[in-house]
Amino acid sequence: MKKAYIISTGTELLLGSTIDSNSVFLGKKLEDIGIRVVGKIIVGDNRDQIARAFKLGFESADLVIASGGLGPTKDDLTKEIACQVMGVKLEIVEEEVRRLQDFFARRRRTMPESNIKQAMFPPESVVLRNPLGTAPGMYLSKDGKVAVLLPGPPREMENMYINEVEPLLKKEFQLETRKAVSRIIKVLGPGESQAEEMLEDVIDDPRGCSLALLAVDGEVHIKVTAEGRDINDSQRILERVTEKIKDKMSDNVIGYDRENLSSAVAKLLMNKGKIVAVAESCTGGLLAKLITDLPGSSRYFWGSITSYSNEAKKILLDVKEETLARYGAVSKETAAQMAQALIHRYGVDIGLATTGIAGPDGGTAEKPVGLVYIALADNNCCNVKELHFTGNRETVRLLTAKTALDLLRRHLISGGKD
Ligand code: AMP
Ligand code: MG
Repeated sequence: MKKAYIISTGTELLLGSTIDSNSVFLGKKLEDIGIRVVGKIIVGDNRDQIARAFKLGFESADLVIASGGLGPTKDDLTKEIACQVMGVKLEIVEEEVRRLQDFFARRRRTMPESNIKQAMFPPESVVLRNPLGTAPGMYLSKDGKVAVLLPGPPREMENMYINEVEPLLKKEFQLETRKAVSRIIKVLGPGESQAEEMLEDVIDDPRGCSLALLAVDGEVHIKVTAEGRDINDSQRILERVTEKIKDKMSDNVIGYDRENLSSAVAKLLMNKGKIVAVAESCTGGLLAKLITDLPGSSRYFWGSITSYSNEAKKILLDVKEETLARYGAVSKETAAQMAQALIHRYGVDIGLATTGIAGPDGGTAEKPVGLVYIALADNNCCNVKELHFTGNRETVRLLTAKTALDLLRRHLISGGKD
């Protein structure tokens, strides 16, 4: 497997004013095409540090990919230093000079002298187009090592990587012949160790496959990578193992790869032609946000009533004064009435309601922080679930919203017989 080393340049990245998101993007993309990232480094706009980073990169890997420092100013040093380290000379490329002049002319501005360095490249390099900015990138393959220089602004960097760099890397390292295929199976319900136990047979006998489990926001993601004799064989292994995992995990599987809880729920609601509404107390609109993250959600989502005060619960959701006085706003009874109002007063097919104590204050011995009730009502029934979450306010709210969506998902799968 070919190895890569990532360099992010920019003093702002060291000071914490900008998060180094470029290396995260590049790490993921390189992994996708089968190049192993063996290290990454952040350096400021400093000659010695940048030179050391490139030397370290070439010692450790076949490919060094850097972002930032391709601008026209004095602190933009990456290209000059990378070329020094690789032993190549920068020369003016007339075509690039014209391109820069055009760029400025179109904006009715004269080109500052300093911009000329953006038109200088070693003759043995490939100049990478940047339709979104002035700084072109550079690709240089020499003596079995490859250097890739990309601009700092994430949009420009991503665009250039996808359109220009990835095809060159695939060709350079003959990555088309890659045999491995992978898939992420997303599971909600069992925790990480429980999922591992449930998958014991598969993990012990992976036959051409490797499995990795990762806990993400209450979900467990199972990454299955299959490597057979060729791509078709790998695909067959992947399908076989996926079936086995599906068998073990049954309704806990929420989706694959890009699918998530919201898209799983959306698919089910549309297939069944059902409209859902939500009444949110402790989630404050987060449940509605998760549902409406998907475009086109108005086809199955009526809307949300965020009711925080008792008044709002009474006026908008017909929660009885007596219920609030006797059981409190965080109770099974209140949750049930909130969900039922969506059915009886607003006429939707399914009503989902949340009420709970997200913290950090407001907990008591009887009703501690993390206590949450989620109600699901339709025309036949109303079920309320009591949950006890741990974590900070943000975690409690996220887990509540996701659990509510998951209850809806399971209700739709079982056809309401839960
Ligand atoms: P530069 O090409 O070095 O002039 O960078 C231009 C801008 O791109 C910087 O001001 C940052 O806002 C952004 N940038 C540079 N490097 C990174 C990085 N590694 N991750 C995210 N943003 C970056
Ligand atoms: Mg910079």
